[in-house]
Amino acid sequence: ENSALGKLKHQETRSTDGQRIRIAANMSLPDEINTITHSGAEGVGLFRTEFMLMEDARFASEDAQFAIYKQVATAMPERLIVVRTLDIGSDKLVQDASYDDGNNPALGLRGLRLGLAHQELLRPQIRALLRAATYGKIAIMFPMVTTLAEFRQARQIVDEERQQLTDEGIKIPDNVQVGMMVETPAAVTMIDQFAQYADFFSIGSNDLAQYLFAVDRTNSQVVPLLQTLHPAMLRSVLHVIRQAHHEGKWVSLCGNMAALHVAEPLLLAMGLDEFSVPSDHILPLRHLISGLSVRQLQPLLHQALALENANEVEQLIKHSLPELY
Ligand code: PEP
Ligand code: MG
Repeated sequence: ENSALGKLKHQETRSTDGQRIRIAANMSLPDEINTITHSGAEGVGLFRTEFMLMEDARFASEDAQFAIYKQVATAMPERLIVVRTLDIGSDKLVQDASYDDGNNPALGLRGLRLGLAHQELLRPQIRALLRAATYGKIAIMFPMVTTLAEFRQARQIVDEERQQLTDEGIKIPDNVQVGMMVETPAAVTMIDQFAQYADFFSIGSNDLAQYLFAVDRTNSQVVPLLQTLHPAMLRSVLHVIRQAHHEGKWVSLCGNMAALHVAEPLLLAMGLDEFSVPSDHILPLRHLISGLSVRQLQPLLHQALALENANEVEQLIKHSLPELY
């Protein structure tokens, strides 16, 4: 078994009917890149930068960030590294009282909203990312997007900083992809329009479930109501994938759902292009996908979408694929 998994490291991940799926890693700290490089990951689907930048209550300078992104890009120069801009606020606490996210922080100034309100944080990060893109394949991703205007403004900032760097004589590759997290119901509903502006999407199932079910993801009294496998979630994810593909854009999923064993066959059946998971989950997931057929899973997906709750979906998957569970 171990050597079968070892072999997988050197191949692309494909379903039995030939669909190419990328299995990428989530990371939060720069020194995880060594583990990830050896994990068989086909890229980094989510580099959460807030933990690194918050280690010191003050934020890392452009040059300090550049050094970190360069190191990560250089470690996997052939693989796409998706770096998410600061996603602070709400459950991602910040010590600095000048970033007050209000009485209801999950609905407050967080993620991209905070980045746009405090561009002194966002712009140095974007400059550092653009500069590091010379050393590998860096993509920039914005968190917690709700409106088209926000995303367009964020892209505009990328364009401005690129121009500024060019004027300063710094060469930036012109194919840096700019994408967004899909983690609000508004983004799901408007995904066809977002697809006109974003190069790719990554579904943040943790926050998407929080906002879809109106359940605080940190409140244990109500967390059981947050059902990742619920048809409401499945329908939302499928809608995003279909609409994005219609516009030729690729879709990743980087929340906990991507590493939820019973959800994985369904996500594969939906046509998800990339799963981004903790590094210890990479090889088991590549192994799972290599044994499944996207086409043969279609009837199961359609049955699941018509069920009433997460428990029914879980039972259906377990009964239909007994060899896996
Ligand atoms: C998510 O919301 O699913 C996600 C991946 O982002 P985070 O868990 O960091 O909010
Ligand atoms: Mg999130």
